[in-house]
Order: sequence, then C-alpha cells, then structure tokens
Amino acid sequence: MLTPAIVRRNTPQRYRMEAQKCAKCGKVFFPPRVVCACGSRKFKGYTLPKEGKVITHTVIRTAPRGFGDEAPYCMGIVELSDGSRILCQIADCEPERLKIGLEVAIEFRKIQEAGESGVIAYGYKAVPAR
Ligand SMILES: [Zn+2]
Repeated sequence: MLTPAIVRRNTPQRYRMEAQKCAKCGKVFFPPRVVCACGSRKFKGYTLPKEGKVITHTVIRTAPRGFGDEAPYCMGIVELSDGSRILCQIADCEPERLKIGLEVAIEFRKIQEAGESGVIAYGYKAVPAR
C-alpha cells in the first residue's frame, strides 16, 4: 500500500530516477543509502539513464490488491546502460513479447490509484524501445 508518507519519502527516486554515487568508490545505489559498502558516507547525486535491457522477467497473473485491474502484467529486472539494475513493471508489452535482452526505455507513468481516496501514484516503468 502506497501511503502518502511513503510516496513523499520516495518522490525523488520514483519521479526522477535519482540515485546516489559514492564519492569514494563510485558505486551507484538506487534507492539511496546512508553508508556505502566501502564505508564512505559521502555521496553525489546521480540520475540513472533512461534506457536498458531486460535481464530477467516474470508475468504477474494473480495481482496483489490494488493492481488486479492490470493483471496479467510483466515485471522484470532491467539493466540500464550504465550497468545499474532496477526492478520495475514492463508496460505496453504483451507477455508473449517479453524476453531476455528486450531493449526498453524508462518512462514516467501512473502506478496506482489508491482506492476511495483517489490518490494517483506515479513512478517509472519500462516500455519496449521503439
Ligand atoms: Zn563507496
């Protein structure tokens, strides 16, 4: 469930694909962390690239509450052009078309409409590259 507090806290990542790059070793974290694996606490802002390819995937046929209208839908891990990996929905893609290596673009899309409150949550999804 996307509560307003979670939506607010995650807004920079969800809306703008803002990650962090360790100032010491260069490792990229998405979502951001407080401490890097190298022990450093110094990070620079880093925006993830908007293109990549599917490295693994699945089709959700029994969706969790709030996503039932969308089933079946595709989910996958996308390796972005800089090597970063993100988990996201792969939209505008028939399950039969989904395959490892599929080139995708990351787009800003509606994620969920929260029940009676009508709050619409937005975030990123991958779509097959044109
Ligand atoms: Zn580091």
